[in-house]
Amino acid sequence: MPIAPPSDTARAVLAEAPPIDLHADTLMWSRWTGYDLHKAHEPPLPLAAFGGHVDIPRMLEGGMSAQFFGLVSLPLAKSVRGMARVVHEQIDQLDAQIARRPGAIRLVRTADEIERARRDGAVGALLGIEGAHALEGDLDNVRVFARRGVRYIGLLHFSENEAGHPAYGRGRKDEAGLTPWGYDLVQRCEEEGVIVDLAHVNKRGMIDACRVARKPPIVSHTGVLGAFDHWRNIDDEQLRAVADKGGVVGVIFCPRYVGGDGLEPVVKHLRHIVDVVGEDAAALGSDWDGFIIPTGPLKDPRGLPHLADALLASGMSRSAVAKIMQQNALRVLREA
Ligand SMILES: [Zn+2]
Repeated sequence: MPIAPPSDTARAVLAEAPPIDLHADTLMWSRWTGYDLHKAHEPPLPLAAFGGHVDIPRMLEGGMSAQFFGLVSLPLAKSVRGMARVVHEQIDQLDAQIARRPGAIRLVRTADEIERARRDGAVGALLGIEGAHALEGDLDNVRVFARRGVRYIGLLHFSENEAGHPAYGRGRKDEAGLTPWGYDLVQRCEEEGVIVDLAHVNKRGMIDACRVARKPPIVSHTGVLGAFDHWRNIDDEQLRAVADKGGVVGVIFCPRYVGGDGLEPVVKHLRHIVDVVGEDAAALGSDWDGFIIPTGPLKDPRGLPHLADALLASGMSRSAVAKIMQQNALRVLREA
């Protein structure tokens, strides 16, 4: 059944608050396969299952102002040489694609740069590292990557590293919190103006990081346990810890984690965050191109106006929807 076009109200909200998504792994595909951000993709099934979700034409169609691209390196051991290189190569990919058509996409670091790019008709590309193993144990790499435009660093991915333990994956240890190096990393990120991302961190580590944070942290892509019971999701205590520091939580678009297909599960997770910690703490964290099969209507950025409609239909105010779509992410960037 074809989906009805989005309402004028949804279009107006998005025009006022053009969405920023906190996490998509598109550059991983660019590094592997030369995936072209400039081209509009209509990926065939089953390829569409895992990637091919984000490109500039579809970002514009969905009304987006900027996308955070996750920089992924999957370590096979605790600390592996060469992980930083893998991240640099993904940034090289983005740089090369920007150089081809700088009027279409621009590396952005700040809220002002996002708004300027928008006025000039370009989409903004923001960078975030997924997993601190990519620093190869060297805190000075925070500055190296910050200089290349990286705006957040996720402490963990699917394996134990120098900073702590993952919520799930190799080296999982639920009773262990952040390591001393992990605490130093939080501090170094804040000194360098880099946002701390707590996605994939175990609960103890997340609470530890929030306790010492002096700037707003984020959880870039997650579901919440209060809406659906799954190991990938965070509980209300974690939500409060993040929100108490002014942080935001991006809701993932993966049916496995949100508990079903369609817009309703995503709405339910966003509503739970708003109900528990308020409308300043909720954001978008699609995980597009991250080996997930996104929920039908949000299979790519063109679904965002429909999500705005579903949120409005659930009783959320226009200003709350604008915060979720864009303004909360902008605020965290400003405060970093
Ligand atoms: Zn992830």
